[in-house]
Amino acid sequence: MSDWMNFSDNLHLGFIDSPHTSSQSPGASGDGVLPVTGEEKYFALSRAVGNVTYEYCLARGETRWSDRCEEVFGVKAQELQSEPALWLSRIHEEDRERVCSEYRKALLEGATFDLEYRVRHPMGHHLWVRDRGVPVEGPDGRTRGIVGFLKDISSHRQRDEDLLSAKRALESSLNGIMLADTQGCLTYANSSFLKLFHYEEPDQVVGKPAAEFWENPRKAQAVFRLLRNSGEWSGQVAARRRDGSRLVVELSAHTVFDQNGSPIGYMASFIDITDHREAERERQESEKKYRLLFSSSSDALIICNAVNGRILEVNPAALNQYGYGYDEFFQMDIFNLAEEPEESVLRLKKIQKCGQANFSLLRHRRRDGSCFEAEVSAATFKWKNCLLMACFIRDVSDRQRLERLKDDVLSAVSHEMRTPLTAILGYTEFMLNHDLDPGAGLQYLDIIRQQSERLRELIENHLNLQQLRAGFGIGLVRPVEVKPLLHSVIGGFRNSSEKHRILVECAADLSPVQADERQLHRALQNLLSNAIKYSPDGGDVILGAFQDGRNVTLYVRDEGIGIPHHAQDKIFDRYFRLCPAEGPTIGGTGLGLALVKEIVKACSGHLRVESSPGQGSTFYISLPTE
Ligand code: ADP
Repeated sequence: MSDWMNFSDNLHLGFIDSPHTSSQSPGASGDGVLPVTGEEKYFALSRAVGNVTYEYCLARGETRWSDRCEEVFGVKAQELQSEPALWLSRIHEEDRERVCSEYRKALLEGATFDLEYRVRHPMGHHLWVRDRGVPVEGPDGRTRGIVGFLKDISSHRQRDEDLLSAKRALESSLNGIMLADTQGCLTYANSSFLKLFHYEEPDQVVGKPAAEFWENPRKAQAVFRLLRNSGEWSGQVAARRRDGSRLVVELSAHTVFDQNGSPIGYMASFIDITDHREAERERQESEKKYRLLFSSSSDALIICNAVNGRILEVNPAALNQYGYGYDEFFQMDIFNLAEEPEESVLRLKKIQKCGQANFSLLRHRRRDGSCFEAEVSAATFKWKNCLLMACFIRDVSDRQRLERLKDDVLSAVSHEMRTPLTAILGYTEFMLNHDLDPGAGLQYLDIIRQQSERLRELIENHLNLQQLRAGFGIGLVRPVEVKPLLHSVIGGFRNSSEKHRILVECAADLSPVQADERQLHRALQNLLSNAIKYSPDGGDVILGAFQDGRNVTLYVRDEGIGIPHHAQDKIFDRYFRLCPAEGPTIGGTGLGLALVKEIVKACSGHLRVESSPGQGSTFYISLPTE
């Protein structure tokens, strides 16, 4: 500022005495050129282009301004001329030194200048001006002053600044951003885009077709078509980096239009979702595994609120095990499944306290009221601020039944086996310790054989019976032709007794019965064996069948000793035996009829007996045909 003041104070020149300032323009007299001076033309032109013109006279240290200077400086031209320091004081202080230096250079070195600086308007705001000055020389070749144009370029500057901020915003965006021309070739890529696709410089990508960045360029062309039709598109896209590696991006693109609505290019924004996709894929995978585990488990799995017991999730095994539907389950608390809900509440308290617990042999109730023995393991876990409990419930009724069955078999068999075993041991020992004549020896051997047979029968019947009672003995129930079955049964007895006549009475057109053929064969065998055994005087033994409505009834009739009325209910119980008061002892295990009863029951049939002492007996098995 002081330099300028010194400079202007020390150089006193008169106003520029330009050759055109006062003389008439050549040809102004009527040759098609306006009859105005060069100066007038100059001012008229500057007004037309919105310029402020000025002339600085070094000799006078004054500047002459055109009228429009008021629009820029907020003061009249006259005021600026009379007060030269006023102009300088209006220049923004950050720009002042630079402006002074350029003016100085123009005056001292004859250099033109083209400056942009800020001017403070008296209203308080700043304007940006462009100041282009040319030094003017006198005839002596010395600089006499400066003429120049000054223009308010605030709106241009603003536009430039807006553009710059928009560019900065694009540049600083974390999303990869690219612009493409209407041919789909890149015109701009921000640094995130370069980073995303592993490039260093924009030049490496500008000009390339955008489709080159897609894994499938044909899909890119399809998206460009959509963009041309609808103006925007967004979706997930598989892309290729510079090194060929794959990445998945979330792309959002739109067409850019000019102010007339004509498309001038495309803009697209990319977010790398490769990791996100990978994490999502892993999450889905794990969810799938969990679901599979959950739904394929053969144990019931129930998830409930660990505080109030409300059931929140059940697997298909739970539906099967309890017989409730999903909707019914979700209305229930876990306690409702126990036979004793109060005890179940106490158990829940224990789980809440310890975090996990196992319980064996709890009794749980099904929807139909029946109960089963359950083994339960439960553990609590946190889920979204909620304490939940996962319960694995295994129906161990079968296992328990088997355990009991094993115990039963062991105790019953060991008890029943004692008699034949004692006989076998006794006779064997006797034979070893005595010299027996061959006749007696054979007799004893026969007794040993009979007892061994009894033992085998005992074990076999016992096992069969226990299996049936436990629900495992019955095989496939399917239609069984009756007549061939009856013939097959008597086949095994053909030469067993000379005193008996074994006959079959059966119509050929009977409907097949629904049964496990092997077990039904065994039942008839038992009845036939009894019929022979309990008719010691011989007679006819008849194996027959007749249609009985929708059922077919099979029967075994003998002419033997018969059964007293009072015993007819009991003969089907295990180990019940009735020994005839007179005549020879008839051996047996007391298991045959119990076995028949279980087989008939397992085939959904019905068993009964008709008998009178001394009149023979008939056992009937009635079986369904459908
Ligand atoms: P076991 O024949 O081994 O004694 P079962 O269970 O087959 O055992 O029969 C139970 C009882 O029923 C027999 O002890 C017998 O008193 C009576 N019983 C069975 N079948 C007949 C029959 N056909 N005639 C008379 N009594 C019979």
